[in-house]
Amino acid sequence: MASITILLDKCTGCTLCVKACPFGAIHMATKKAVIDMAKCNLCGACAPVCKFAAIELKKDAGRKKDLSAYKDVWVFCEQKKGVIQSISFELLGEGRKLAGKLGVKLCAVLLGSGMEDAAEALGERGADKVYLVDHPALKDYQDDPYTEALVKLVEEYKPEVLLCGATTIGRSLISRVAIKTCAGLTADCTGLDIDEKERLLLQTRPAFGGNIMATIITPNHRPQMATVRHKVMQEAPVRPGRTAEIISKVFPEEIFASRTKLAEIVAEVTAMVNLSEADIIVSGGRGLGGKENFPMLEELAKVLGGAVGASRAAVDADWIPYSRQVGQTGKTVCPKLYIACGISGQIQHLIGMQSSRTIVAINKDPDAPIFKVATYGIVGDLHELVPALTKEFKRVLNK
Ligand code: FAD
Repeated sequence: MASITILLDKCTGCTLCVKACPFGAIHMATKKAVIDMAKCNLCGACAPVCKFAAIELKKDAGRKKDLSAYKDVWVFCEQKKGVIQSISFELLGEGRKLAGKLGVKLCAVLLGSGMEDAAEALGERGADKVYLVDHPALKDYQDDPYTEALVKLVEEYKPEVLLCGATTIGRSLISRVAIKTCAGLTADCTGLDIDEKERLLLQTRPAFGGNIMATIITPNHRPQMATVRHKVMQEAPVRPGRTAEIISKVFPEEIFASRTKLAEIVAEVTAMVNLSEADIIVSGGRGLGGKENFPMLEELAKVLGGAVGASRAAVDADWIPYSRQVGQTGKTVCPKLYIACGISGQIQHLIGMQSSRTIVAINKDPDAPIFKVATYGIVGDLHELVPALTKEFKRVLNK
């Protein structure tokens, strides 16, 4: 059992540990630190800051797993209607860097029906090996057969790292696989790297409401599993003619049993350009002043062939639907051009758009934090600037 103890003879009452505890679990009583075990989660943030070694943290050594058999970086390649989704290419791009640092192979995992050609094509996106499970029950995503097939592959081939998209399918699947394989899982990573000395996956993601970026490691379990949001990483380039070794696995029929039955897949019908796929996004925030001003952004977006996005402030005010929200609790986007109008640039918004190639910020406050990430900043009133930009783009683009 893990435990934490204040060694009273060493504690000087300096309060450094009180400040270091992110959970407010330490207070002072008669000049000694006291830990409220109802709030403490044994994270260990307090122990290293104590200059007097007055905090004794005993971690649960647990049953040590033999990690030496685990190798290679795997990417779960999501497909819908037989088409591999672009998130898979983004993960293959990132997976290639990780595999290079670890000196191992990059492997793709593909589950579906009639996917042989698609499996071959994954070689052109950088996969060295493709584990393919082809079965009619895997045609469309279903929790049970997908989980069982992936767990079987993991147990047999033992990947060191397993990456998956933080998509509806990915989130549903990978959490089940993590539980079944007793592996660590970090959701919604925005950055991945390797600690080459320890061979650990460094999984960075926003924490505490997006106010800090936490880097999480999984030292005691394998595979090290992470989900990554769409449009955060760069796609692996296509290398025509490059091939991968295809390992086609056949599993017993019972693996494909499902407790649920897929009735129908209903596609979302939208008149607007899909935010996640848009190359150009014009986003509005509280500075827009009201719902009636969004058509001004729509006009600019239309001239540029882009989509309209929004900050949470605009969504919360009911000026635009939630499906348009960019940020930590909305969509992550990575367009070629992101125009932020009347958006201050709080971290929760930046998380969702800061990897855009070019960022233009329009804000009347010259000290607005959005200007720190902007490629071009325009200080001024958006009510004058947006129509002026629309007019000029119409002229230049002959629209
Ligand atoms: P404000 O911060 O109020 O900024 C408005 C800006 O408009 C100001 O900078 C002002 O100078 C400028 N302005 C005003 N009038 C004009 C004008 N006429 N011309 C030009 N500029 C003008 N936020 C998100 O966006 N997405 C998220 O996914 C998200 N998730 C969150 C999750 C959590 C857990 C929390 C706690 C918060 C989250 N937020 C999110 C909210 C976030 O913290 C901010 O509150 C929000 O992004 C602010 O929106 P805003 O920039 O539109 O509004």
